[in-house]
Amino acid sequence: MDIADLRDRILKQDRRALARAITLVESARPDHREQATALLDTLSKAGKQALRIGLSGTPGVGKSTFIESFGMMLTAQGLRVAVLAVDPSSARSGGSILGDKTRMERLSRDPNAFIRPSPSQTHLGGVARRSREAVALCEAAGFDVVLIETVGVGQSETVVAEMADLFLLLLAPAGGDELQGVKRGIMEMADVILVNKADGDLKSAAMRTCADYAGALRLLRKRPQDPQGFPKAMTVSALEESGLVTAWDEITSLIKWRRAEGHWAARRAAQAQFWFHEEVRQGLLARLQQSDAQKHLADLDTKVAAGEVTPGQAAKEVLDHLS
Ligand code: GDP
Repeated sequence: MDIADLRDRILKQDRRALARAITLVESARPDHREQATALLDTLSKAGKQALRIGLSGTPGVGKSTFIESFGMMLTAQGLRVAVLAVDPSSARSGGSILGDKTRMERLSRDPNAFIRPSPSQTHLGGVARRSREAVALCEAAGFDVVLIETVGVGQSETVVAEMADLFLLLLAPAGGDELQGVKRGIMEMADVILVNKADGDLKSAAMRTCADYAGALRLLRKRPQDPQGFPKAMTVSALEESGLVTAWDEITSLIKWRRAEGHWAARRAAQAQFWFHEEVRQGLLARLQQSDAQKHLADLDTKVAAGEVTPGQAAKEVLDHLS
């Protein structure tokens, strides 16, 4: 593959070239890996800095409907929008919850939008890396907003938060006790909670749910990266396309404040370091699995279980073996 050519076409905002480049970063083949690294390297200072928005919610809350309505609202303002899915299930099962091609049909036809479903199969640890690198490629291709979507199942939010500038949590109107159903850790990650389906018969339930979450957010520890009034809860209707402009205004005002106060840059710097350490960790693990230290590991496992060697001593032996 001609990496220089691919690079030029990405910089010219060619969506097919972008799609090809993402396929390249998804590949586990060592030669592809090398090309992907070279490509990302030549693009690292190019393009612009997009607004990276993480979005999570359990299946059925209206993520696709929201992304489509929200995305169309943004492209109508002349913004270019990329949508990436981080689907933790696809790494294990090969099946994908977010990969459905029929999702977001209108948005996918919009020339100012780019939608990438999650890969159907990735090697271990590949989901996070692939997503992070795909975000970088979208930025190089001049997208203004990159939406990174994930299903609310726990660990994937943490991964998405590590590559986003801010995090949206989409919820549905709930009956009485469901507030506890959202894990505290996920609540703590959210910058804006959007209670969707605030329309028709569900409207009053949505407003009640929103007030409950607003109350819950006020009880959380104050974070230095939050201006007055954040994190906040609001209602939207993805179906009726209401509340979306207000949500966008809140998002942009939050980011403007964070940029001015230095929090935005600090977060990106910390994220770069996080991914550097993560790459080292993954690389070491891969090396461990390839080397004959693996056999050593199995032997020591038995000894550790039998109490013949301490865990610390066993770990030291394996690591000594690696170097
Ligand atoms: P996802 O699984 O989170 O991607 O959810 P979908 O976007 O597929 O939506 C699940 C269901 O909720 C669909 O039947 C949608 O039509 C419906 N839905 C999504 N947004 C809204 C909304 O704002 N109001 C109402 N009443 N229904 C909605």
